[in-house]
Amino acid sequence: MEKTPFVTLEQLNEMIAVYPTPFHLYDEKGIRENAAALLRAFSWNPGFREYFAVKAAPTPKLMQILKECGCGFDCSSLTELMLAKAVGCEPGDVMFSSNDTPVEEFYYADEIGGIINLDDITHIETLEAALGHIPETISCRYNPGGVFTMSNGIMDNPSDSKYGMTKEQIVSAFRILKDKGAKRFGIHAFLASNTATNEYYPKLAGILFELAVYLKKETGADIRFVNLSGGIGIPYRPEDEPNDIAVIGEGVRRAYEAILTPAGMGDVAIYTELGRYMTGPFGCLITKAIHEKHIHKEYIGVDACAVNLMRPAMYGAYHHITVMGKENQPCDHIYDVTGSLCENNDKFAIDRHLPLIERGDLLLIHDTGAHGYSMGYNYNGKLKSAEILLCQDGSFELIRRAETPKDYFSTLDCLPVYKQLESEINRICR
Ligand SMILES: *Cc1c(COP(=O)(O)O)cnc(C)c1O
Repeated sequence: MEKTPFVTLEQLNEMIAVYPTPFHLYDEKGIRENAAALLRAFSWNPGFREYFAVKAAPTPKLMQILKECGCGFDCSSLTELMLAKAVGCEPGDVMFSSNDTPVEEFYYADEIGGIINLDDITHIETLEAALGHIPETISCRYNPGGVFTMSNGIMDNPSDSKYGMTKEQIVSAFRILKDKGAKRFGIHAFLASNTATNEYYPKLAGILFELAVYLKKETGADIRFVNLSGGIGIPYRPEDEPNDIAVIGEGVRRAYEAILTPAGMGDVAIYTELGRYMTGPFGCLITKAIHEKHIHKEYIGVDACAVNLMRPAMYGAYHHITVMGKENQPCDHIYDVTGSLCENNDKFAIDRHLPLIERGDLLLIHDTGAHGYSMGYNYNGKLKSAEILLCQDGSFELIRRAETPKDYFSTLDCLPVYKQLESEINRICR
């Protein structure tokens, strides 16, 4: 599928007149339409709910849009929980799917009415100690071990993954939780990431539905929901086949009707915790070419770096690049597109065929709407960028300002050296 930007060069020029590059830009219309399509695909299940994985895009304005679309939030840290509360979450709107969890986070998650999804059997004790009781609604995360394979050869390795409980543990956990007063149960698993197949959710659903039937039989637990978590992928490359959410919803329905309905469990709700699928394609990183270098290879230096988008450096991930205004020119140049970190993996693209790039050209790096800004860091003292929303009516809105040196130094404000830094900030920053 051809990858086309959701923004025009004309719109970008208006934005950069106000907000300098680099920045992440999000497409409100795309986010809303996609969320609506997800709800339609699962409308056969009356209890269906998407809990957006906050770590993918922890930006309040984006969370508010998703909340308006009916989403709750999947959190895994204190600050993510705080954000969920700040955007108006009520009890039941938050799923707390954490691991290696600090005790205070259980406490806060419960206080705001989050549904706690236990990653480990030992967390039962921790949770009970933290709260003084076990919540009436509780979920447990499952890890089947082994290798998880799909027919297109895509696989993942649950036996190597740190998450979840074994089958024996989840049976024991349900018994213990029930004894301690839990009344409504859920199960959860996340077995493969960024899956480029309509088969992943139906296959995972089959595994979890079988488990739900088994757990009900073994423990008598009242299972209210099955949480399919995240993992639906997006087409990062032009040649990738996009997933079809309607086909995925139907596949899950078939598994549901084959396994849960005959077991008298036709009232179980389906939950999801999609992150990438909800916002990934509806964000991009806008950056300007500021430098070209011709040595053993051809390099284009841009004003963004891995701090703004870590996935290429971290996973060798492909992110498509459009040189704005040059969409119809031949891709007859081969470039490495680099940031300025003192790390040779700070490259948004390696040996990429692109049109001739000149200094001042705007590059649009696609599919940064999930695990993009949020993975950022501050290596080399680089500052995190702004985030801008392209609203449905075509206007644009700053939804997070760029970091300044003052932000970067602010954790030093307890030290005498901060006075020096502050006077320098005042001298050189407008
Ligand atoms: C990261 C994560 C998700 C979201 O994953 P995506 O690949 O973005 O869909 C959902 N649930 C949990 C527990 C996660 O850790």
